[in-house]
Amino acid sequence: MSQQAQNIFFRSNAPVTVDEEKCIAHKGCTVCVDVCPMDLLAINPVTQKAFMQYDECWYCMPCETDCPTGAVKVDIPYLLR
Ligand code: SF4
Ligand code: SF4
Repeated sequence: MSQQAQNIFFRSNAPVTVDEEKCIAHKGCTVCVDVCPMDLLAINPVTQKAFMQYDECWYCMPCETDCPTGAVKVDIPYLLR
């Protein structure tokens, strides 16, 4: 399946994902939550890991570039690349 078709069929996938193995939010990190201008990211109180709370991403990237452990991955849609 092409990337474009995947974006249509799997649109419910969050564009920003967090590798919970790498995320150190349980040690107090809130960098990605703080840098997102849209307040889209939050710390899950149950898992103590960051996650995408609202899917309205602007693909501005600081969440990925500023994360100290490289846990954040922004999946820029095919049409914006
Ligand atoms: S910046 Fe990285 S390590 Fe910190 S809370 Fe966000 S995902 Fe976790
Ligand atoms: S790319 Fe920008 S808008 Fe999207 S989650 Fe990261 S900081 Fe927020």
